[in-house]
Formats: sequence, C-alpha cells, structure tokens
Amino acid sequence: MSSSSLDTDVLIVGAGPVGLFLANECGRRGLRWRLFETRSSQSEHSKALAIFPRTLEIFDMAGLARPFLEEANRVTSVAVVTQAHTLARMSFTPEQTPYPFVAMVPQDMTERLLVEQLRRGGGQVEYETTFVSAVEQDNRVSVTLERKGEPIKLTAAFVIGCDGAHSAVRRLLNLPFEGAEYDDSFMLADIETNDTLPANELQLCPSELGPVAIFPMSATRRRIVATIQSKKEGDAPSLDLVLRGSGSTRTRRNRSARLTLEHLLSHTPPPGCSASRRAHLHCWRRRSHTQPIWRAGNEHRPA
Ligand SMILES: Cc1cc2nc3c(=O)[nH]c(=O)nc-3n(C[C@H](O)[C@H](O)[C@H](O)COP(=O)(O)OP(=O)(O)OC[C@H]3O[C@@H](n4cnc5c(N)ncnc54)[C@H](O)[C@@H]3O)c2cc1C
Repeated sequence: MSSSSLDTDVLIVGAGPVGLFLANECGRRGLRWRLFETRSSQSEHSKALAIFPRTLEIFDMAGLARPFLEEANRVTSVAVVTQAHTLARMSFTPEQTPYPFVAMVPQDMTERLLVEQLRRGGGQVEYETTFVSAVEQDNRVSVTLERKGEPIKLTAAFVIGCDGAHSAVRRLLNLPFEGAEYDDSFMLADIETNDTLPANELQLCPSELGPVAIFPMSATRRRIVATIQSKKEGDAPSLDLVLRGSGSTRTRRNRSARLTLEHLLSHTPPPGCSASRRAHLHCWRRRSHTQPIWRAGNEHRPA
C-alpha cells in the first residue's frame, strides 16, 4: 500500500515527553505524522526532573540539546549529609560524554521545549482529541478519535501509543503490563529556598524521619523527596504526616503538609537551609511495571 493513500504515516497518541520527542524525530526523518492529545494544553507540572548524559547525547543527535542545556541546572556531585557532618561526597562527572553532569529540567519545561521545536518545523499538537479505537486491515490501521464529541476517522501506517501509564492503546492491543506496588509512600515538594546549599549538588540526608533527597532545580529552588511509611491504601495515600489536623480537607492537607515540610527541613539538611515558599506538593505510592511486549500487528513500512 502506498503511503499517499493514507492520511498519515505515523499517528501518535499522547503528547507527553515521549510522544513529543517521537513527533520531532518523525519530522526530522521526513515521515508524515500527526500527534493527538486528549488534554487542552501541555501539563504545567514539574514531574520528572533529571536528564542524564546519554539522553542529552540523544537530544544532540536529534538537534535538540541546545535549549535543554540553556535551561538546565547542572548537577555534578552527590553528598550524603547529616545535620552535623558530610558523610560522603561523590562526584558525577563521567569522562566519556560531552555532557558530564545531570541536567535538571522540570518536565513542563521539557514539554515546552519539545513543542517549540515541533512548531519550528511547522508541526503542532492536536489537542482535545482522544484516541478511542483502532483496527488493522489491509496493511493499514483505521483509527477512531473523538474531538468535542465528534468522531474522527483516520488511516495510518503505524499507530504509536505514547499515552502514559494507563495507555488506551496498550489496553486495546492486549499488551501485558506486569508489576506490583511497593509498600512505601513518598512525599514530593518543590520549594523556594535560600542559597545555602550548593546549586550543583544533590543531597541525600539519612535521618530518623527516613531518607530525604534534596534535588537542586536552581540555586534557590529545590525538590524534596521523602519516604514515608504508611499502610497500603491504593492510589491516594492518606499519610498521617500530611493529614493530621482539623478543618476542611483542603485546609487540613495544606496546613499539615507545611508543618511536615518544615519539620523535615529542620531535621534533615545541614543547618541554614530554609524554605520560603512551597510551590507544589504531591504524595504518591510507587509501582514498578514492565511491558515485556511493545508491539502488535504486521510489520510494514511507509513507501
Ligand atoms: C509528581 C510526579 C513526579 C515525577 N517525578 C519523576 C522523576 O523525578 N523522574 C522520572 O523519571 N519520572 C517522574 N515522574 C514520571 C514521569 O512524569 C513520567 O514517567 C512521564 O510523564 C512519562 O512520559 P510519557 O510521555 O510516557 O507519558 P505521559 O507524560 O503520561 O503523557 C501521556 C499523554 O497521553 C495523553 N493521553 C492519555 N490517554 C490518551 C488518549 N486516549 N488519547 C489522547 N491522549 C491521551 C495524556 O493526557 C498525556 O498527556 C513523575 C510523575 C509525577 C506525577
């Protein structure tokens, strides 16, 4: 089947970092692509932060490295610190790479840079459009999407599911996603701090409250991740630390979370580090899942 009889070569579902990178790569390699996203715009959450040297090398090959390097806070060491002592300091400056550091870039910025690159190449994300189903027939995939209640039918040589942990594409194809949930819960907070801690160093703080990791997002912005023991409670752990107090749920959650953060900060990093503002707080349970099979359907190539 010739590619020109299809609406597109590659139909991508989901405009997270994976879908956006893939769309950029399809464009770079001269393939026709369309990228559909159910949300009305990109996520504004900082989520994943750390970009490792190999990923930067791949961005370089894809012509994407420069804007990431401009935005990144570069981390070159990890210190294990208590309130009284530095127990260990390990440098992270690998020699066999042009990028000997971890680049800290919040995920909303990563997505913004990838969208900007798409636009420079004349492409765009088609928002508010949800993948519904797909059927493979005669070496093509017929896809049904939905936009504002209206069905859209398209044909493509390939459909690629980049639609995240709850992927509708994966479910449709009956691809396995095996794994389990860990016992611990985690708390994550992005906060404004003073500049006492070095901007190029990640701190790991063992403490009586459990391990706490402090990631430098910039000289005065940090991500705190703490392990919190709690019983299994499903998707939204109601952590004792976070939910203590009275009043409405929202007030109670915010107030107790602030107390918890203050408590963590006054008991874990070296003295002098103070938080001035909490920008984002999140609690979650950790799961580990693997997808042992990544594709289904016939192998065929666009002409
Ligand atoms: C608070 C938080 C902190 C995190 N911190 C880290 C971290 O430090 N390090 C790390 O590696 N990871 C972290 N993660 C995980 C990281 O965000 C994900 O691994 C990453 O977003 C996965 O990228 P993705 O492109 O595969 O999927 P996603 O980012 O989930 O994007 C999938 C997209 O598909 C869209 N979509 C879904 N279904 C459909 C459909 N039917 N039709 C059309 N569109 C659809 C969704 O709206 C979404 O935009 C964190 C996550 C959270 C929530």
